[in-house]
Amino acid sequence: MSKRNLTILLANPRGFCAGVERAIEIVERAIEKYGPPVYVRHEIVHNRYVVEALQDKGAVFVEELDEVPDGVPVIFSAHGVPKVVPAEAERRKLLYVDATCPLVSKVHREAERHHRDGRQIVLIGHAGHPEVIGTMGQLPEGSIVLVESAAQAETLEVEDPKRLAYITQTTLSVDDTVGIIEVLQRRFPKISGPKKEDICYATTNRQSAVKAIAERCDALLVVGAPNSSNSARLVEVARKLGCEQAMLVQRAADVDWAALAEIDVLGITAGASAPEILVEEVIGACRERFDVDIEEVTVTSEDVVFKLPRMLTAPAAA
Ligand code: SF4
Repeated sequence: MSKRNLTILLANPRGFCAGVERAIEIVERAIEKYGPPVYVRHEIVHNRYVVEALQDKGAVFVEELDEVPDGVPVIFSAHGVPKVVPAEAERRKLLYVDATCPLVSKVHREAERHHRDGRQIVLIGHAGHPEVIGTMGQLPEGSIVLVESAAQAETLEVEDPKRLAYITQTTLSVDDTVGIIEVLQRRFPKISGPKKEDICYATTNRQSAVKAIAERCDALLVVGAPNSSNSARLVEVARKLGCEQAMLVQRAADVDWAALAEIDVLGITAGASAPEILVEEVIGACRERFDVDIEEVTVTSEDVVFKLPRMLTAPAAA
């Protein structure tokens, strides 16, 4: 029986960002340099496939520092950590490597600068996300207030509207964040902030690529983890543009093939923590069921590379 035709619109950029690549390389190099086990506090990036591959090489993932035995190296995840975490590692004389993405560290420094200048800080982000916990933990409790929506921004009460600043999580929806910032700027005209927001290049580009294909797609698959913020945003962006069958899948085995049985055009993208091999797996599974044509839609090219921490690149002392 002949297979049904399916056009796949492949969003580009998709998948791994420079911060995720750096974090994974930090774990791999640390295992090479110090030997297994190397402990990692929190999932290094939000992707089970990546985590399991690193476990096979000798990484041990834990939630908190008190699960790390004395005398073994520990790595902090790409999302960033509250200041108490490195402080505790130092107190315990643990060898630690910070894999916080440099673009998250930049937001931490912005927060510190506003705090030094006497401003109360509004953080636009999602409660409970490790990046938000890490950013709020850069300053004493109460210095940063979290706002998750435009509705919350409308009712926010601040200490002094003239001494106020905002920062944002790096993996938010660009469009929703603009709406929240507009509310804050209308209510507090003196609020300071970054030129646009702190959403990173990778989040912005992956959302733009989805916008470029969503209206042409009958359905769209986002390869990513349910706890990956930027992946969840890609599903929302597609749905807002009318592609209601936008779905998050971790692996090909998660695809709801019955829902795709009658479609002609399928969009595929991947969150910043999903490796390309999983996109290939999903495309391979499509080929088993359909006669596939692939059209890659590229909105921009990326060449961002972040340096590794010196302690992992410096040659060992003779
Ligand atoms: S999504 Fe953006 S902020 Fe997060 S690790 Fe990647 S580059 Fe860094």
